[in-house]
Amino acid sequence: MEFFRKVPKELWRDYHWQVQNRIKTKEELEKFIKLTREELEGIEKTKGIYPLAITPYYLSLIDPEDPEDPIRLQAIPRAVEVDERIQSYGEPDALREEGDIPGLTHRYPDRVLLQVTTFCAVYCRHCMRKRIFIQGERAINSEQLKSMLDYIKSHPEVREVLLSGGDPLTLSPEKLDLILSEIRKITHVEIIRIGTRLPVLAPQRFFDPKILDILEKYSPIWISTHFNHPKEITPEAQEAVENLLRRGIPVLNQTVLLKGVNDSPEVMLELMRKLIRIKVKPQYLFHCDPIKGTIHFRTSLEKGLEIMRYLRGRISGYAIPTYAVDLPEGKGKVPLLPEYLIESNGTKHTFLSWDGQQVEYDICEL
Ligand code: SF4
Repeated sequence: MEFFRKVPKELWRDYHWQVQNRIKTKEELEKFIKLTREELEGIEKTKGIYPLAITPYYLSLIDPEDPEDPIRLQAIPRAVEVDERIQSYGEPDALREEGDIPGLTHRYPDRVLLQVTTFCAVYCRHCMRKRIFIQGERAINSEQLKSMLDYIKSHPEVREVLLSGGDPLTLSPEKLDLILSEIRKITHVEIIRIGTRLPVLAPQRFFDPKILDILEKYSPIWISTHFNHPKEITPEAQEAVENLLRRGIPVLNQTVLLKGVNDSPEVMLELMRKLIRIKVKPQYLFHCDPIKGTIHFRTSLEKGLEIMRYLRGRISGYAIPTYAVDLPEGKGKVPLLPEYLIESNGTKHTFLSWDGQQVEYDICEL
């Protein structure tokens, strides 16, 4: 709020004000932050390729004195995104999400993913769907929705529908209500899951009872959100989560492991502790996908495993996410665990305890 002291509280708490006042140009950004040369170049060079938009709320979390601020790295373009070396690696759609029906991905038998909008409150620099934002900001039309619904109706094995985007909860309440009501008419769909980063980028969305009413009406709905750094867990984010939980909507978190942002065991531990304090269940820690324009955020697998080893023993099991890699070509997610079983000889095994001790254990079967 530091940058926006003069904004009246009722406007600050209004989601529409946050979206209407998004910062989208170098000139607007410079009013708040002294941009580095890398950022100035980045804003110029990414124009027309990877859009820029930051809500005043998310911008207010940045420490303007710190060029390596973790919020800043996620929100402000850098020249490295379009650097020749970075661009030469990865693919726009490395996970092969684009299928036969535009906007629908059917990877696992029991669930489908629907991309229902290309709009986001903030365009995250590490986004795995970076490719879609060049299309402009638009929601699916009724024809696209109909073909998605027809597909789901003709696949009775689909038990779960994941709404994604862009950010589905940026849709107008009317459109959101329509999409959810149509999905709910399909009797074999049991669960609706919504992937939204609004609790992080514009939590004010969940201060609006209209949105909460709609989500509650079509229960069971699960929210998958995307906190990446402890700085993102603010009183506003907590209020948003609390409002969802009061309506019976569970909130899970999917963190992406990002170089410079959260690739530190201590930062990750603090994030997981803060998540459970606001009652968000850490679900996944994803290794950063090989998406064109985001490769500078990637770490080694060893870094992810080091973080997982550190978390074990320092925090309860329910607060430890599953570290996973999404395999290329749409082959799905695989979980990764540090090695705890280091030797086996018949029924005798040697394990590594959480604090690094080797422990012999005879697992005899009767
Ligand atoms: S909110 Fe989600 S979909 Fe939108 S840019 Fe950020 S990570 Fe990508």
